[in-house]
Amino acid sequence: MRTKMILKFPKAVTNEPITYELIKKYDLRINILKADINFKLEGHLIFDVDGNSKDIAGALEYLENLGVEADLITSTINIDSNKCVSCGLCTSACAVKALHLNREDWSLNYTELKCVGCNLCISTCPTRAITNTVW
Ligand code: SF4
Ligand code: SF4
Repeated sequence: MRTKMILKFPKAVTNEPITYELIKKYDLRINILKADINFKLEGHLIFDVDGNSKDIAGALEYLENLGVEADLITSTINIDSNKCVSCGLCTSACAVKALHLNREDWSLNYTELKCVGCNLCISTCPTRAITNTVW
């Protein structure tokens, strides 16, 4: 099973070796897409994860017991190239840089592997070129 996970963890656990535990204890293969700590010292982590569903369920239980909010990302977006006018508004809404304008021909590029399914880009599009698919 391959999916993406978004974690929000409180100050008390920002020093815990969470990704190490997910890899070692639950045999998950993890590719970190975004990680940051805000001014309140709360952490956010978004990553691509590959593992069997039992191990992913075990990892979610481990995170919950630690007090970490964890969500699986279960949607992706579609872009209708006939409606897109390459205005670039959606690119500024995308925190993980899954959307960018190609400087050679100003076409919009979408990298699905980076997309975390937040859907923030959808409402920014003036031509309604972006829709989402829920898995
Ligand atoms: S849904 Fe849109 S804004 Fe959110 S990560 Fe995917 S491309 Fe970026
Ligand atoms: S906001 Fe809509 S029209 Fe503008 S670049 Fe993005 S998809 Fe294209």
